Amino acid sequence: TAENASALQIFMSAAAHAPDAPAIKYFDGVLTYGELDAAADALAGALRADGFTAGDRLAVYVQNNPAFVIGLLAAWKAGGSAVAVNPMNRQRELAYLLEDSGATALLTLNTLYDEVAAEVIAGGTTAVRTVISVSALDGQSRDDDRVLGDQSADVPVGTRALSAIIAEHDGTPVTPTAPSADDLAVLTYTSGTTGKPKGALNTHGNLAFNAQTYRDWIGLTGEDVVLGVAPLFHITGLVGHVMLAPLLRIPLVLTHRFAPAVMVDAVREHRPTFTVGAITAYIALADSGGARPGDFDSLRALYSGGAPIAPAVADRLESVFGAYIHNIYGLTETNSPSHAVPFGVRAPVDGESGALSVGVPVFNTVVRVVDDDGEDLPVGAIGEFATSGPQVVPGYWNRPDATAESIPGGELRTGDVGFMDSDGWFYLVDRKKDMINASGYKVWPREVEDVLYGHPAVAEAAVVGVPDEYRGETVKAFVSLQPGKAATGEEIVEFCKSQMAAYKYPRSVEILDELPKTATGKVLRRTLRDQAAARA
Ligand code: ATP
Repeated sequence: TAENASALQIFMSAAAHAPDAPAIKYFDGVLTYGELDAAADALAGALRADGFTAGDRLAVYVQNNPAFVIGLLAAWKAGGSAVAVNPMNRQRELAYLLEDSGATALLTLNTLYDEVAAEVIAGGTTAVRTVISVSALDGQSRDDDRVLGDQSADVPVGTRALSAIIAEHDGTPVTPTAPSADDLAVLTYTSGTTGKPKGALNTHGNLAFNAQTYRDWIGLTGEDVVLGVAPLFHITGLVGHVMLAPLLRIPLVLTHRFAPAVMVDAVREHRPTFTVGAITAYIALADSGGARPGDFDSLRALYSGGAPIAPAVADRLESVFGAYIHNIYGLTETNSPSHAVPFGVRAPVDGESGALSVGVPVFNTVVRVVDDDGEDLPVGAIGEFATSGPQVVPGYWNRPDATAESIPGGELRTGDVGFMDSDGWFYLVDRKKDMINASGYKVWPREVEDVLYGHPAVAEAAVVGVPDEYRGETVKAFVSLQPGKAATGEEIVEFCKSQMAAYKYPRSVEILDELPKTATGKVLRRTLRDQAAARA
Protein backbone atom coordinates (compact mmCIF):
# COMPACT_ATOMS: atom_id res chain seq x y z
CA THR A 1 0.00 0.00 0.00
CA ALA A 2 1.01 3.63 -0.41
CA GLU A 3 1.47 3.88 3.36
CA ASN A 4 4.25 1.33 3.14
CA ALA A 5 6.05 2.75 0.14
CA SER A 6 8.84 4.35 2.10
CA ALA A 7 10.68 3.59 5.31
CA LEU A 8 9.73 7.00 6.71
CA GLN A 9 6.04 6.48 5.91
CA ILE A 10 6.06 3.21 7.84
CA PHE A 11 7.21 5.07 10.98
CA MET A 12 4.92 8.05 10.40
CA SER A 13 1.84 5.89 10.10
CA ALA A 14 2.76 3.91 13.24
CA ALA A 15 3.07 7.24 15.11
CA ALA A 16 -0.21 8.52 13.66
CA HIS A 17 -2.29 5.40 14.20
CA ALA A 18 -0.71 3.84 17.28
CA PRO A 19 0.96 6.68 19.21
CA ASP A 20 0.59 4.89 22.55
CA ALA A 21 1.81 1.50 21.38
CA PRO A 22 5.25 0.56 22.74
CA ALA A 23 7.88 0.98 20.05
CA ILE A 24 11.06 0.16 21.93
CA LYS A 25 11.62 -1.68 25.19
CA TYR A 26 15.07 -0.95 26.49
CA PHE A 27 15.87 -2.51 29.84
CA ASP A 28 13.18 -1.12 32.16
CA GLY A 29 12.20 1.77 29.92
CA VAL A 30 9.57 1.98 27.20
CA LEU A 31 9.37 4.45 24.31
CA THR A 32 6.01 4.61 22.50
CA TYR A 33 5.62 5.33 18.78
CA GLY A 34 4.38 8.80 19.69
CA GLU A 35 7.41 9.47 21.90
CA LEU A 36 9.75 8.12 19.27
CA ASP A 37 8.20 10.46 16.73
CA ALA A 38 8.47 13.45 19.06
CA ALA A 39 12.12 12.65 19.85
CA ALA A 40 12.83 12.43 16.12
CA ASP A 41 11.12 15.80 15.59
CA ALA A 42 13.34 17.32 18.26
CA LEU A 43 16.51 15.98 16.70
CA ALA A 44 15.39 16.83 13.16
CA GLY A 45 14.67 20.39 14.31
CA ALA A 46 18.11 20.69 15.92
CA LEU A 47 19.81 19.32 12.81
CA ARG A 48 17.95 21.77 10.57
CA ALA A 49 18.79 24.65 12.85
CA ASP A 50 22.43 23.65 12.38
CA GLY A 51 22.13 23.81 8.61
CA PHE A 52 21.42 20.16 7.87
CA THR A 53 19.42 20.21 4.69
CA ALA A 54 17.87 18.03 1.99
CA GLY A 55 20.31 15.38 0.82
CA ASP A 56 22.65 15.72 3.82
CA ARG A 57 23.82 12.71 5.83
CA LEU A 58 23.80 11.97 9.55
CA ALA A 59 26.27 9.29 10.64
CA VAL A 60 24.83 7.13 13.41
CA TYR A 61 27.58 5.62 15.54
CA VAL A 62 25.85 3.98 18.49
CA GLN A 63 25.17 0.49 19.74
CA ASN A 64 21.71 -1.14 19.97
CA ASN A 65 20.29 1.94 21.63
CA PRO A 66 16.94 3.68 21.03
CA ALA A 67 19.00 6.62 19.77
CA PHE A 68 19.84 4.59 16.67
CA VAL A 69 16.18 4.62 15.65
CA ILE A 70 15.71 8.27 16.64
CA GLY A 71 18.76 9.20 14.55
CA LEU A 72 17.50 7.41 11.46
CA LEU A 73 14.06 8.96 11.70
CA ALA A 74 15.43 12.43 12.37
CA ALA A 75 17.74 12.27 9.37
CA TRP A 76 14.79 11.33 7.14
CA LYS A 77 12.50 13.96 8.63
CA ALA A 78 15.16 16.60 8.07
CA GLY A 79 15.21 15.61 4.40
CA GLY A 80 18.41 13.59 4.42
CA SER A 81 19.66 10.10 5.00
CA ALA A 82 21.68 8.18 7.58
CA VAL A 83 25.04 6.44 7.51
CA ALA A 84 25.02 3.29 9.63
CA VAL A 85 28.38 3.01 11.38
CA ASN A 86 29.60 -0.11 13.15
CA PRO A 87 30.12 0.91 16.82
CA MET A 88 33.12 -1.42 16.93
CA ASN A 89 34.93 0.77 14.42
CA ARG A 90 38.16 2.38 15.56
CA GLN A 91 39.56 5.73 14.46
CA ARG A 92 40.94 4.69 11.10
CA GLU A 93 37.68 3.00 10.12
CA LEU A 94 35.43 5.79 11.37
CA ALA A 95 37.51 8.46 9.63
CA TYR A 96 37.22 6.60 6.33
CA LEU A 97 33.43 6.23 6.60
CA LEU A 98 32.87 9.86 7.57
CA GLU A 99 35.10 11.07 4.74
CA ASP A 100 33.65 8.75 2.14
CA SER A 101 30.04 9.46 3.04
CA GLY A 102 30.55 13.19 3.49
CA ALA A 103 28.35 13.13 6.60
CA THR A 104 27.88 16.60 8.09
CA ALA A 105 26.44 15.42 11.41
CA LEU A 106 27.32 12.63 13.79
CA LEU A 107 25.22 10.95 16.47
CA THR A 108 27.51 9.06 18.84
CA LEU A 109 27.61 7.44 22.25
CA ASN A 110 29.49 9.71 24.64
CA THR A 111 31.98 6.93 25.34
CA LEU A 112 32.61 6.34 21.63
CA TYR A 113 33.03 10.08 21.15
CA ASP A 114 35.64 10.33 23.88
CA GLU A 115 37.48 7.19 22.88
CA VAL A 116 37.32 7.35 19.11
CA ALA A 117 35.42 10.10 17.35
CA ALA A 118 36.81 13.20 19.07
CA GLU A 119 40.22 12.74 17.48
CA VAL A 120 38.75 12.05 14.07
CA ILE A 121 36.70 15.25 14.26
CA ALA A 122 39.67 17.23 15.58
CA GLY A 123 41.73 15.88 12.67
CA GLY A 124 39.58 18.06 10.41
CA THR A 125 39.43 15.59 7.50
CA THR A 126 35.66 15.17 7.66
CA ALA A 127 32.71 17.45 6.88
CA VAL A 128 31.14 16.84 10.30
CA ARG A 129 30.09 20.07 12.01
CA THR A 130 27.34 18.87 14.36
CA VAL A 131 28.01 16.23 17.00
CA ILE A 132 25.26 14.90 19.24
CA SER A 133 25.99 12.49 22.04
CA VAL A 134 23.97 9.85 23.82
CA SER A 135 24.77 7.97 26.98
CA ALA A 136 23.73 4.37 27.05
CA LEU A 137 22.53 2.08 29.77
CA ASP A 138 24.59 -1.05 29.94
CA GLY A 139 22.08 -3.26 31.70
CA GLN A 140 23.98 -3.10 34.95
CA SER A 141 21.64 -0.47 36.40
CA ARG A 142 18.37 -2.30 35.97
CA ASP A 143 16.41 0.00 38.28
CA ASP A 144 17.03 2.84 35.84
CA ASP A 145 13.82 3.57 33.97
CA ARG A 146 15.08 6.25 31.62
CA VAL A 147 15.26 5.08 28.05
CA LEU A 148 17.97 7.50 27.03
CA GLY A 149 20.20 7.23 30.08
CA ASP A 150 21.45 10.06 32.25
CA GLN A 151 22.81 12.85 30.08
CA SER A 152 23.21 15.48 32.73
CA ALA A 153 26.49 14.27 34.13
CA ASP A 154 28.98 13.90 31.34
CA VAL A 155 28.32 15.53 28.03
CA PRO A 156 31.64 15.54 26.20
CA VAL A 157 33.07 18.89 25.24
CA GLY A 158 32.11 19.76 21.67
CA THR A 159 28.92 17.72 21.68
CA ARG A 160 25.29 18.33 22.51
CA ALA A 161 23.24 15.79 24.47
CA LEU A 162 20.35 14.17 22.63
CA SER A 163 18.31 14.04 25.85
CA ALA A 164 18.70 17.81 26.31
CA ILE A 165 17.63 18.42 22.71
CA ILE A 166 14.54 16.29 23.37
CA ALA A 167 13.81 17.94 26.73
CA GLU A 168 14.12 21.45 25.30
CA HIS A 169 11.96 20.73 22.26
CA ASP A 170 8.72 22.75 22.14
CA GLY A 171 6.88 19.92 20.43
CA THR A 172 6.72 21.47 16.98
CA PRO A 173 6.46 18.61 14.52
CA VAL A 174 8.70 18.58 11.50
CA THR A 175 6.75 18.18 8.29
CA PRO A 176 9.07 16.30 6.02
CA THR A 177 8.66 16.11 2.28
CA ALA A 178 7.67 12.51 1.71
CA PRO A 179 10.65 10.63 0.32
CA SER A 180 9.99 8.54 -2.75
CA ALA A 181 10.76 4.84 -2.83
CA ASP A 182 13.92 5.52 -4.86
CA ASP A 183 15.38 8.03 -2.41
CA LEU A 184 18.41 7.08 -0.33
CA ALA A 185 17.50 6.07 3.23
CA VAL A 186 20.69 4.59 4.67
CA LEU A 187 24.26 4.03 3.53
CA THR A 188 25.52 0.70 4.85
CA TYR A 189 29.17 -0.04 4.24
CA THR A 190 30.39 -3.27 2.71
CA SER A 191 33.69 -4.05 1.05
CA GLY A 192 32.71 -6.26 -1.81
CA THR A 193 35.38 -8.17 -3.62
CA THR A 194 38.08 -5.58 -3.89
CA GLY A 195 39.20 -2.28 -2.55
CA LYS A 196 37.88 0.01 0.12
CA PRO A 197 34.46 -0.29 1.78
CA LYS A 198 31.63 1.10 -0.35
CA GLY A 199 28.36 2.60 0.82
CA ALA A 200 25.46 0.48 -0.41
CA LEU A 201 22.52 2.74 -1.33
CA ASN A 202 19.69 1.27 0.72
CA THR A 203 16.63 3.15 -0.51
CA HIS A 204 13.34 3.84 1.26
CA GLY A 205 11.68 1.39 -1.11
CA ASN A 206 14.30 -1.33 -0.50
CA LEU A 207 13.89 -1.14 3.28
CA ALA A 208 10.10 -1.00 3.11
CA PHE A 209 9.91 -3.95 0.73
CA ASN A 210 12.03 -6.30 2.81
CA ALA A 211 10.38 -5.29 6.10
CA GLN A 212 7.20 -6.52 4.42
CA THR A 213 9.03 -9.66 3.29
CA TYR A 214 9.83 -10.49 6.92
CA ARG A 215 6.21 -9.84 7.92
CA ASP A 216 4.51 -11.78 5.16
CA TRP A 217 7.02 -14.59 4.69
CA ILE A 218 6.89 -15.48 8.36
CA GLY A 219 3.27 -14.48 8.98
CA LEU A 220 4.06 -12.06 11.80
CA THR A 221 1.16 -10.06 13.24
CA GLY A 222 0.38 -7.22 15.61
CA GLU A 223 0.62 -9.71 18.49
CA ASP A 224 4.32 -10.39 17.91
CA VAL A 225 7.28 -8.87 19.75
CA VAL A 226 10.70 -8.52 18.09
CA LEU A 227 13.91 -9.34 19.96
CA GLY A 228 16.86 -7.28 18.73
CA VAL A 229 19.65 -9.82 18.43
CA ALA A 230 21.41 -8.49 15.31
CA PRO A 231 23.41 -5.26 15.48
CA LEU A 232 21.17 -2.42 14.25
CA PHE A 233 23.84 -0.88 11.99
CA HIS A 234 23.93 -4.15 10.06
CA ILE A 235 21.36 -4.68 7.33
CA THR A 236 19.62 -7.56 9.11
CA GLY A 237 19.13 -5.48 12.27
CA LEU A 238 18.09 -2.49 10.19
CA VAL A 239 15.39 -4.36 8.26
CA GLY A 240 14.49 -7.34 10.48
CA HIS A 241 14.36 -5.26 13.68
CA VAL A 242 14.24 -1.48 13.14
CA MET A 243 11.86 -1.50 10.13
CA LEU A 244 9.80 -4.58 10.95
CA ALA A 245 8.56 -3.35 14.34
CA PRO A 246 6.85 -0.13 13.13
CA LEU A 247 5.38 -1.95 10.13
CA LEU A 248 3.42 -4.11 12.58
CA ARG A 249 3.32 -1.40 15.29
CA ILE A 250 4.83 -3.89 17.73
CA PRO A 251 7.63 -3.48 20.27
CA LEU A 252 11.32 -3.98 19.55
CA VAL A 253 13.23 -5.28 22.58
CA LEU A 254 16.75 -3.86 22.69
CA THR A 255 19.73 -4.54 24.89
CA HIS A 256 22.67 -2.20 24.58
CA ARG A 257 24.97 -4.83 23.09
CA PHE A 258 24.96 -8.56 22.71
CA ALA A 259 25.66 -9.86 26.23
CA PRO A 260 23.99 -13.28 26.47
CA ALA A 261 23.02 -13.08 30.16
CA VAL A 262 21.49 -9.61 29.73
CA MET A 263 19.59 -10.78 26.67
CA VAL A 264 18.22 -13.83 28.48
CA ASP A 265 16.91 -11.43 31.16
CA ALA A 266 15.24 -9.35 28.44
CA VAL A 267 13.62 -12.45 26.94
CA ARG A 268 12.27 -13.48 30.34
CA GLU A 269 10.90 -10.00 30.97
CA HIS A 270 9.52 -8.93 27.58
CA ARG A 271 8.50 -12.30 26.09
CA PRO A 272 9.59 -11.72 22.46
CA THR A 273 8.15 -14.05 19.83
CA PHE A 274 10.44 -13.46 16.84
CA THR A 275 14.05 -12.80 16.11
CA VAL A 276 16.66 -13.03 13.37
CA GLY A 277 20.39 -13.07 14.02
CA ALA A 278 23.61 -14.96 13.48
CA ILE A 279 23.73 -18.61 14.46
CA THR A 280 26.54 -17.84 16.91
CA ALA A 281 24.14 -15.54 18.78
CA TYR A 282 21.75 -18.46 19.27
CA ILE A 283 24.64 -20.64 20.42
CA ALA A 284 25.73 -17.96 22.91
CA LEU A 285 22.17 -17.61 24.28
CA ALA A 286 21.78 -21.38 24.57
CA ASP A 287 25.10 -21.75 26.36
CA SER A 288 24.94 -18.68 28.60
CA GLY A 289 23.77 -20.79 31.51
CA GLY A 290 21.49 -17.99 32.71
CA ALA A 291 18.25 -19.33 31.26
CA ARG A 292 15.64 -20.95 33.50
CA PRO A 293 13.13 -23.49 32.26
CA GLY A 294 10.46 -21.72 30.21
CA ASP A 295 12.52 -18.60 29.49
CA PHE A 296 12.61 -19.25 25.75
CA ASP A 297 9.00 -20.43 25.47
CA SER A 298 7.71 -17.19 23.98
CA LEU A 299 10.07 -17.41 20.97
CA ARG A 300 7.98 -18.99 18.21
CA ALA A 301 9.57 -17.76 14.96
CA LEU A 302 13.36 -17.98 14.75
CA TYR A 303 15.57 -17.19 11.78
CA SER A 304 19.33 -17.30 11.37
CA GLY A 305 21.21 -15.49 8.62
CA GLY A 306 24.61 -14.19 7.70
CA ALA A 307 26.57 -17.43 8.04
CA PRO A 308 26.12 -21.16 7.40
CA ILE A 309 24.26 -23.31 9.93
CA ALA A 310 25.74 -26.76 10.59
CA PRO A 311 22.82 -29.26 10.63
CA ALA A 312 24.03 -30.78 13.93
CA VAL A 313 24.05 -27.33 15.56
CA ALA A 314 20.52 -26.68 14.27
CA ASP A 315 19.30 -29.89 15.94
CA ARG A 316 20.89 -29.06 19.27
CA LEU A 317 19.51 -25.51 19.28
CA GLU A 318 16.03 -26.73 18.44
CA SER A 319 16.00 -28.75 21.63
CA VAL A 320 17.12 -25.71 23.66
CA PHE A 321 14.71 -23.17 22.15
CA GLY A 322 11.84 -25.54 21.52
CA ALA A 323 11.53 -24.02 18.05
CA TYR A 324 13.12 -24.80 14.71
CA ILE A 325 15.66 -22.20 13.52
CA HIS A 326 14.98 -21.34 9.88
CA ASN A 327 17.76 -20.38 7.54
CA ILE A 328 17.63 -16.99 5.81
CA TYR A 329 20.15 -15.64 3.32
CA GLY A 330 21.01 -12.34 1.78
CA LEU A 331 23.55 -9.57 1.57
CA THR A 332 23.83 -5.93 2.53
CA GLU A 333 23.05 -5.26 -1.14
CA THR A 334 19.77 -7.23 -0.89
CA ASN A 335 18.61 -5.44 2.25
CA SER A 336 18.72 -8.69 4.22
CA PRO A 337 16.76 -11.59 2.68
CA SER A 338 16.82 -12.62 -0.94
CA HIS A 339 16.16 -16.22 0.10
CA ALA A 340 14.53 -17.77 3.14
CA VAL A 341 13.12 -21.04 4.34
CA PRO A 342 9.31 -20.73 4.46
CA PHE A 343 8.05 -20.52 8.03
CA GLY A 344 7.12 -23.90 9.46
CA VAL A 345 9.05 -25.82 6.77
CA ARG A 346 12.26 -27.73 7.51
CA ALA A 347 15.04 -27.03 5.03
CA PRO A 348 16.50 -29.98 3.14
CA VAL A 349 20.21 -30.86 3.42
CA ASP A 350 22.31 -31.50 0.31
CA GLY A 351 23.56 -35.10 0.42
CA GLU A 352 26.87 -34.32 -1.23
CA SER A 353 28.08 -31.11 0.45
CA GLY A 354 26.16 -31.55 3.71
CA ALA A 355 24.94 -27.95 3.30
CA LEU A 356 21.57 -26.93 4.73
CA SER A 357 19.52 -25.13 2.08
CA VAL A 358 19.40 -21.33 2.45
CA GLY A 359 15.78 -21.46 1.28
CA VAL A 360 13.97 -20.30 -1.82
CA PRO A 361 13.83 -16.78 -3.30
CA VAL A 362 11.43 -14.52 -1.42
CA PHE A 363 8.54 -12.60 -3.03
CA ASN A 364 9.15 -10.88 -6.39
CA THR A 365 12.76 -12.02 -6.38
CA VAL A 366 14.47 -13.74 -9.30
CA VAL A 367 17.72 -15.60 -8.73
CA ARG A 368 19.73 -17.04 -11.59
CA VAL A 369 22.68 -19.40 -11.19
CA VAL A 370 25.21 -18.16 -13.75
CA ASP A 371 28.66 -18.91 -15.15
CA ASP A 372 31.49 -16.38 -15.37
CA ASP A 373 29.93 -14.84 -18.46
CA GLY A 374 26.58 -14.36 -16.74
CA GLU A 375 24.93 -17.17 -18.75
CA ASP A 376 22.26 -19.31 -17.07
CA LEU A 377 23.35 -22.73 -15.83
CA PRO A 378 21.03 -25.75 -15.70
CA VAL A 379 19.29 -26.99 -12.55
CA GLY A 380 21.81 -28.66 -10.23
CA ALA A 381 24.87 -26.98 -11.79
CA ILE A 382 27.15 -24.94 -9.55
CA GLY A 383 27.58 -21.26 -10.33
CA GLU A 384 27.25 -17.74 -8.94
CA PHE A 385 23.92 -16.46 -7.60
CA ALA A 386 22.72 -13.41 -9.54
CA THR A 387 19.80 -11.72 -7.82
CA SER A 388 17.24 -9.18 -8.90
CA GLY A 389 14.19 -7.90 -7.06
CA PRO A 390 12.76 -4.86 -5.29
CA GLN A 391 15.20 -5.32 -2.39
CA VAL A 392 18.38 -5.06 -4.49
CA VAL A 393 20.17 -1.74 -4.00
CA PRO A 394 20.45 0.48 -7.08
CA GLY A 395 24.20 0.91 -6.53
CA TYR A 396 27.02 2.21 -4.37
CA TRP A 397 27.64 5.74 -3.12
CA ASN A 398 29.89 7.63 -5.57
CA ARG A 399 31.11 4.39 -7.19
CA PRO A 400 29.70 4.09 -10.70
CA ASP A 401 32.39 1.58 -11.69
CA ALA A 402 31.72 -0.76 -8.77
CA THR A 403 28.00 -0.44 -9.41
CA ALA A 404 28.42 -1.37 -13.09
CA GLU A 405 30.62 -4.32 -12.18
CA SER A 406 28.62 -5.79 -9.28
CA ILE A 407 25.08 -4.80 -10.22
CA PRO A 408 25.01 -4.84 -14.04
CA GLY A 409 21.54 -3.93 -15.30
CA GLY A 410 20.21 -3.97 -11.73
CA GLU A 411 21.08 -7.63 -11.18
CA LEU A 412 23.42 -8.26 -8.23
CA ARG A 413 26.38 -10.58 -8.74
CA THR A 414 26.55 -11.91 -5.19
CA GLY A 415 29.96 -13.60 -5.25
CA ASP A 416 28.24 -16.55 -3.57
CA VAL A 417 28.51 -19.89 -5.33
CA GLY A 418 26.00 -22.71 -5.17
CA PHE A 419 23.15 -24.42 -7.00
CA MET A 420 19.38 -24.86 -7.16
CA ASP A 421 17.87 -28.34 -6.89
CA SER A 422 14.94 -29.62 -8.93
CA ASP A 423 12.48 -28.56 -6.20
CA GLY A 424 13.74 -24.97 -6.29
CA TRP A 425 15.77 -25.04 -3.05
CA PHE A 426 19.07 -23.11 -3.15
CA TYR A 427 22.31 -24.31 -1.56
CA LEU A 428 25.47 -22.30 -0.99
CA VAL A 429 28.66 -24.29 -1.36
CA ASP A 430 31.49 -21.83 -2.01
CA ARG A 431 32.41 -18.18 -2.52
CA LYS A 432 33.96 -16.37 -5.45
CA LYS A 433 34.88 -13.48 -3.21
CA ASP A 434 37.74 -13.36 -0.71
CA MET A 435 35.50 -12.53 2.23
CA ILE A 436 36.06 -14.20 5.60
CA ASN A 437 32.88 -14.95 7.58
CA ALA A 438 33.62 -14.86 11.34
CA SER A 439 30.35 -15.44 13.23
CA GLY A 440 28.50 -13.59 10.47
CA TYR A 441 30.85 -10.59 10.70
CA LYS A 442 32.42 -10.07 7.32
CA VAL A 443 36.17 -9.47 7.12
CA TRP A 444 37.78 -8.46 3.84
CA PRO A 445 41.41 -9.60 3.55
CA ARG A 446 42.43 -6.51 1.60
CA GLU A 447 41.57 -4.16 4.45
CA VAL A 448 43.50 -6.18 7.04
CA GLU A 449 46.43 -6.50 4.63
CA ASP A 450 46.49 -2.73 4.13
CA VAL A 451 46.92 -2.33 7.89
CA LEU A 452 49.62 -5.04 8.02
CA TYR A 453 51.57 -3.21 5.30
CA GLY A 454 51.61 -0.22 7.63
CA HIS A 455 53.73 -2.17 10.14
CA PRO A 456 57.35 -0.99 9.91
CA ALA A 457 58.80 -4.52 9.65
CA VAL A 458 56.30 -6.14 7.26
CA ALA A 459 57.37 -6.76 3.66
CA GLU A 460 54.42 -8.79 2.37
CA ALA A 461 51.10 -9.80 3.86
CA ALA A 462 48.24 -12.17 3.06
CA VAL A 463 45.13 -12.66 5.14
CA VAL A 464 42.94 -15.76 5.01
CA GLY A 465 40.06 -17.39 6.87
CA VAL A 466 40.74 -20.65 8.68
CA PRO A 467 38.04 -23.03 9.97
CA ASP A 468 36.96 -22.39 13.56
CA GLU A 469 34.52 -24.50 15.50
CA TYR A 470 32.63 -21.62 17.13
CA ARG A 471 33.05 -18.72 14.72
CA GLY A 472 32.87 -20.77 11.53
CA GLU A 473 35.99 -19.00 10.33
CA THR A 474 38.68 -16.98 12.04
CA VAL A 475 41.18 -14.46 10.64
CA LYS A 476 44.80 -15.48 10.12
CA ALA A 477 47.66 -13.53 8.56
CA PHE A 478 50.85 -14.66 6.87
CA VAL A 479 53.63 -12.10 6.54
CA SER A 480 57.23 -11.90 5.42
CA LEU A 481 59.56 -9.36 6.98
CA GLN A 482 61.75 -6.72 5.40
CA PRO A 483 65.46 -7.62 5.34
CA GLY A 484 67.19 -6.67 8.58
CA LYS A 485 63.89 -5.97 10.41
CA ALA A 486 62.51 -8.03 13.28
CA ALA A 487 59.04 -8.49 14.75
CA THR A 488 57.15 -11.31 16.41
CA GLY A 489 53.73 -12.58 15.38
CA GLU A 490 52.32 -11.39 18.71
CA GLU A 491 53.64 -7.85 18.18
CA ILE A 492 52.01 -7.73 14.77
CA VAL A 493 48.70 -9.02 16.21
CA GLU A 494 48.79 -6.17 18.77
CA PHE A 495 49.58 -3.65 16.03
CA CYS A 496 46.49 -4.72 14.09
CA LYS A 497 44.28 -4.88 17.16
CA SER A 498 44.80 -1.20 17.92
CA GLN A 499 43.64 -0.19 14.46
CA MET A 500 40.50 -2.14 13.73
CA ALA A 501 37.22 -3.45 15.05
CA ALA A 502 37.69 -6.43 17.35
CA TYR A 503 36.23 -9.02 14.99
CA LYS A 504 38.65 -8.13 12.20
CA TYR A 505 42.18 -8.32 13.57
CA PRO A 506 44.14 -11.53 12.85
CA ARG A 507 44.00 -13.95 15.76
CA SER A 508 47.40 -15.23 14.70
CA VAL A 509 50.19 -13.96 12.48
CA GLU A 510 52.58 -16.48 11.01
CA ILE A 511 55.92 -15.26 9.71
CA LEU A 512 57.23 -16.95 6.54
CA ASP A 513 60.49 -16.34 4.65
CA GLU A 514 58.48 -15.71 1.53
CA LEU A 515 54.80 -15.84 0.56
CA PRO A 516 53.71 -18.21 -2.24
CA LYS A 517 53.01 -16.30 -5.46
CA THR A 518 51.81 -16.76 -9.00
CA ALA A 519 54.16 -16.28 -11.94
CA THR A 520 52.90 -12.71 -12.17
CA GLY A 521 53.78 -12.07 -8.55
CA LYS A 522 50.27 -12.15 -7.08
CA VAL A 523 50.17 -13.63 -3.58
CA LEU A 524 48.35 -16.97 -3.57
CA ARG A 525 45.83 -16.43 -0.78
CA ARG A 526 43.99 -19.62 -1.67
CA THR A 527 47.14 -21.78 -1.31
CA LEU A 528 47.80 -20.27 2.11
CA ARG A 529 44.17 -20.78 3.08
CA ASP A 530 44.22 -24.43 2.06
CA GLN A 531 47.51 -25.04 3.90
CA ALA A 532 46.21 -23.36 7.06
CA ALA A 533 42.91 -25.26 6.84
CA ALA A 534 44.75 -28.57 6.46
CA ARG A 535 46.64 -27.83 9.68
CA ALA A 536 43.62 -26.50 11.64
P1 ATP B 1 21.88 -11.72 5.81
O1 ATP B 1 21.08 -10.64 5.19
O2 ATP B 1 21.39 -13.07 5.40
O3 ATP B 1 21.98 -11.61 7.31
P2 ATP B 1 24.29 -10.43 5.87
O4 ATP B 1 23.36 -9.46 6.44
O5 ATP B 1 25.29 -11.07 6.75
O6 ATP B 1 23.36 -11.56 5.24
P3 ATP B 1 26.52 -9.26 4.53
O7 ATP B 1 27.16 -8.87 5.79
O8 ATP B 1 26.54 -8.35 3.37
O9 ATP B 1 24.98 -9.57 4.74
O10 ATP B 1 27.08 -10.67 4.11
C1 ATP B 1 26.53 -11.35 3.05
C2 ATP B 1 27.20 -12.69 2.88
O11 ATP B 1 26.95 -13.50 4.03
C3 ATP B 1 26.62 -13.48 1.75
O12 ATP B 1 27.20 -13.08 0.52
C4 ATP B 1 26.97 -14.90 2.14
O13 ATP B 1 28.29 -15.24 1.77
C5 ATP B 1 26.89 -14.86 3.66
N1 ATP B 1 25.60 -15.39 4.13
C6 ATP B 1 24.48 -14.69 4.39
N2 ATP B 1 23.49 -15.49 4.82
C7 ATP B 1 23.98 -16.75 4.83
C8 ATP B 1 23.44 -18.04 5.15
N3 ATP B 1 22.19 -18.18 5.59
N4 ATP B 1 24.25 -19.12 5.01
C9 ATP B 1 25.52 -18.97 4.58
N5 ATP B 1 26.09 -17.80 4.27
C10 ATP B 1 25.34 -16.69 4.37
